Amino acid sequence: MQVFANRQASGFKTRAERPSRISRVLVPVVHAVAAETKQTAPDGRTLRRSLNQTGRYVRQPTNDPASQVKMDEHGVGYSTSGLVAQMRTQGNLWKEGDVTVKLAKAYGYCWGVERAVRMAYEARMAHPDKKVFVTNEIIHNPEVNTRLKEMNIEIVEDEGKGKDYSMIQGGDVVIFPAFGATVQELSDFKEKGVQMVDTTCPWVAKVWNSVDTHTRKQYTSVIHGKYSHEETIATASFASNYIIVKDLKEAQYVCDYILHGGNREEFLSKFSKALSAGFDPDTMLQRVGLANQTTMLKGETEQIGKMLEKTMLTKYGPAKINEHFLLMETICDATQERQDALYEMVADPEIDLMIVVGGFNSSNTSHLQEIAEHKGLASFWVDSAARIDVDTNTILHKLAHGELKETTSWLQPGKPVTIGITSGASTPDRAVEEVLHKVFKIYNPNFAGVAPKECGRVATPDEEH
Ligand code: SF4
Repeated sequence: MQVFANRQASGFKTRAERPSRISRVLVPVVHAVAAETKQTAPDGRTLRRSLNQTGRYVRQPTNDPASQVKMDEHGVGYSTSGLVAQMRTQGNLWKEGDVTVKLAKAYGYCWGVERAVRMAYEARMAHPDKKVFVTNEIIHNPEVNTRLKEMNIEIVEDEGKGKDYSMIQGGDVVIFPAFGATVQELSDFKEKGVQMVDTTCPWVAKVWNSVDTHTRKQYTSVIHGKYSHEETIATASFASNYIIVKDLKEAQYVCDYILHGGNREEFLSKFSKALSAGFDPDTMLQRVGLANQTTMLKGETEQIGKMLEKTMLTKYGPAKINEHFLLMETICDATQERQDALYEMVADPEIDLMIVVGGFNSSNTSHLQEIAEHKGLASFWVDSAARIDVDTNTILHKLAHGELKETTSWLQPGKPVTIGITSGASTPDRAVEEVLHKVFKIYNPNFAGVAPKECGRVATPDEEH
């Protein structure tokens, strides 16, 4: 793993090849596509190989300079000359009058997200005359998605009845987002004859790899994630048997069932949206492997792993633990680093308040806000600078548990303050810069902005495939 200008870029391995099964939670999506193409879910491993052979499948960026220029112009890449770039060169610190800002050591765009946005821009530039679609928000950031729409990249939204891909025809370009696509979607788009641009983050593919191993070795995948999250939906589609647990409480329930049995109907009802089709808790929890949505809290995933391991040790004994429990390291380093950096930041006694910048539907950003709230710090989570009204010193912000709150006089101009700031893994630097610009404006109405200064590009790792 390499360290790049305060961003730790993630190491990664080759992508997974995966078998599949479509889950109950996928039904709406699957129906929308499969009904049209009349395909059944294929074997993921075979499918993966076959995609590479179509000549219509791209899964790595080309690093096209013209796309980079466009990204810079739109402010959807790493900052190279703005406030964040300049902070990077001076220890992630900035002083502007009474305001001292400390930027978390790891923050903002992870490598996988920047890569996905880059590939979307490259797809648009490479196919200027074609219709371009993305099967979901490419990343969870409103500004970036708006920019893509402005470039005539159509985001196929789920209006509550599942995805409708009927408007996509052979020859069109289809982009799969950073958090992946289901086996069925990959298969159907292959059959349609579209040009596929797969921006799935290699770290997400790493999870699929472990789920693939579970399936091949006949373990049930216990996925720590949110059953409705696109990444988890995609991951589950690569598993044969799975159960999705969202937190320690649900994991404990599963462990208790493994150890002591319980009410089968209650179990099936409790996890009705989070199980593979035909799931039998009495037979399918005898051999389990842990997988995760890459943006869940690392500590919680680790704890769930320990709980499962202890449960299997108690039930089957140390000599047989490997027959009943499989653990592979799959948590994304980027998520972990942003969380660790925030734990460090909230322990800093100089910090008076926190600002967390990131999409309101971004799972990893919500966890950052959660860490700050848990520490008891005043923490304001916004998805863009538009949530801040300079004239009234008011901010519309979100709390970790989901409530939107308006706070007036959230800053006290005239009184020195130290603000900690971080941003989610799908947040471009410009969003942070725009938020800070408004903060500085509240303290000093005459603040005219930070003059740009070229600071160089953030290095990103070479592709390893
Ligand atoms: S947060 Fe991690 S898994 Fe998700 S896109 Fe970024 S690097 Fe990949």
